[in-house]
Amino acid sequence: MQVHKAEIVISAVQPEQYPKTKLPEIALAGRSNVGKSSFINTLINRKGLARTSGKPGKTQTLNFYLIEEALHFVDVPGYGYAKVSKTERVKWGQMIETYITEREQLKAVVSLVDFRHDPSEEDVQMYNFLKYYEIPVIVVATKSDKIKRSQWNKHEAAIKRKLVFDATDDFIIFSSETKEGKEEAWKAIENFL
Ligand code: GDP
Repeated sequence: MQVHKAEIVISAVQPEQYPKTKLPEIALAGRSNVGKSSFINTLINRKGLARTSGKPGKTQTLNFYLIEEALHFVDVPGYGYAKVSKTERVKWGQMIETYITEREQLKAVVSLVDFRHDPSEEDVQMYNFLKYYEIPVIVVATKSDKIKRSQWNKHEAAIKRKLVFDATDDFIIFSSETKEGKEEAWKAIENFL
């Protein structure tokens, strides 16, 4: 998809605030700092629409972006901040769970993992959670520019092993620096619209 129009429509905490449209939604989830904002900005050809590197303690909201009047990207707040209190963590979990399990418009989740490292426990939990609810997953391995091409197969295999990756899901190697995987990511997303 060639994106010319993208805008944030709402930062929601409650289901009542979700957009009232029936447009398909693609949610994006990953650890803080994984490169989620950079991924969104790359796909929509913007430098700074999605905020990069949300700081700990910032309001945990689901940010809905309207793309080409055709779909919503739903930016899920990053997990994995050690400093977040238990209460906040529980609130975050409930918000995500409600959204993912109850939202009819949700077509697939882009689950971002760092291509350099084995997935964290939270990455694995998120993947299992999505599989349990039978939500299609597009795994995006970020920051591929930081790994030599000769090592790509090894890293891909390690990530898939740790996730117990389901071969019916998509696995995309991505870099917001080189734009590697941008077209492939759009193709995978468009399959679910
Ligand atoms: P978020 O917290 O998941 O939204 O992550 P950001 O998009 O803010 O990225 C976190 C950090 O990783 C920033 O310093 C980015 O510049 C950097 N980063 C993100 N994507 C890439 C990438 O593809 N390659 C490289 N080398 N750095 C990246």
